[in-house]
Amino acid sequence: MTPVSSIYTQMLDVIAAVEPRVADATRQELTDQRASLKLIASENYASLPTLLAMGTWLSDKYAEGTIGHRFYAGCRNIDTVESVAAEHARALFGAAHAYVQPHSGIDANLVAYWAILNHRIESPTLKRLEKATVNDLTEADWEDLRHEFNSQRVMGMSLDAGGHLTHGFRHNISGKMFTQHSYGTNPTTGLIDYDALRATAREFRPLIIVAGYSAYPRRVNFARMREIADEVGATLFVDMAHFAGLVAGKVFTGEEDPVPYAHVVASTTHKSLRGPRGGFVLATPEYADAVDKGCPMVLGGPLGHVMAAKALAFAEARTAEFETYAQAIATNAQALGEGLAKRGVRLVTGGTDNHLLLLDVSAFGLTGRQAESALLESGVVTNRNSIPHDPNGAWYTSGIRIGTPALTTRGFTAADFDVVADLVATVLKAATPASTPKGPSKAKYVLEPGVADRVHARAAELLGNHPLYPELEL
Ligand SMILES: *Cc1c(COP(=O)(O)O)cnc(C)c1O
Repeated sequence: MTPVSSIYTQMLDVIAAVEPRVADATRQELTDQRASLKLIASENYASLPTLLAMGTWLSDKYAEGTIGHRFYAGCRNIDTVESVAAEHARALFGAAHAYVQPHSGIDANLVAYWAILNHRIESPTLKRLEKATVNDLTEADWEDLRHEFNSQRVMGMSLDAGGHLTHGFRHNISGKMFTQHSYGTNPTTGLIDYDALRATAREFRPLIIVAGYSAYPRRVNFARMREIADEVGATLFVDMAHFAGLVAGKVFTGEEDPVPYAHVVASTTHKSLRGPRGGFVLATPEYADAVDKGCPMVLGGPLGHVMAAKALAFAEARTAEFETYAQAIATNAQALGEGLAKRGVRLVTGGTDNHLLLLDVSAFGLTGRQAESALLESGVVTNRNSIPHDPNGAWYTSGIRIGTPALTTRGFTAADFDVVADLVATVLKAATPASTPKGPSKAKYVLEPGVADRVHARAAELLGNHPLYPELEL
């Protein structure tokens, strides 16, 4: 048995001694992950060193504050871990400042928003109250503060054009704390229309322009975004949660690299970047102090064990191997897109030039919900997603979002992704909506007999050629 296998075997035994169901579920998750064709664009497989770094006593320490400036005693090792992670993040992205405490992408975005508000809002009330303690504040002071900080204007990409909930959607706190105006994509091309965006920004005068997406299959010109932000006096905030791995791996360079153009960049660490679940924020020097106030403004104590794992993931992403990986993500997405298009699947924007694709399944008479379920039954894991101006809304949807980061980590090649395209197209063609006494269902579907089994078998063959965590004999 390889040494790392025996580490995990013993670890699972130790866990099982306390609660066997947790050990079983952990073991089963490995089996399930190994056996599924994971096309979820936001997921990946972190390295074993990254995973191992999360299972330690660094989790036991409280370390609110910043490096060398904590509200608790005895934080020297957390200081080391956080410094190393921040150092790698700065070097990896060429950023002036990195804040690696956020626990997730949403937390990173909240830190970014509050940092921008802190830096940008001239609050006469705060100035007046500089020396006051909380107890001195009257109800009227609080009213003034809320008035000065709330209802600032934010402009982000709309959810159905591929933006994220945190970019001003009404069911997210960002939609409630800001007055928001979204920008969409051109109805004909499906692409961001920078001239239209500029016109909207000139009219709306946002304090913050958010660039970034979760379901837009194209690259963004951040130089153009910065030009527009400068013209209207907005801060450019880029949320690169999805595509941080493509920035790290130098697939997105020049005007497609957000770091030289954005005032503040936030991200997850676990999507294309292939690290632990978590977030981080990069900033220009002028925003650095405000970003460092993430704890206690928005966050509690940082997760020392996760910062350790982030340090490893950032270090791994600085290698030539990671650049090769990131290039393969993009090449594979091209192959997947071409494979789907030639088999009659309509792609939103006609293709992809990043790591993800958005399939319009309405031509097959299906909702996204039906397509997602039919694919899952066949062993292909995806998620349904709205397409621009989706007639089926955000729950049933008309789209399927897929991406290449996870299977590329397993070593899938462009030729393998052509087979994947064939499997996806086969299922979509073999599925039809089920009818209910009330009419056609938006959720239920019927799959031609034998298709799920055939797709499963071919998927198993591909997965067998590219084992997940081959070092683990579990
Ligand atoms: C995934 C995602 C997030 C949220 O990340 P979590 O870690 O799930 O909180 C934020 N922004 C964008 C653009 C994302 O794609």
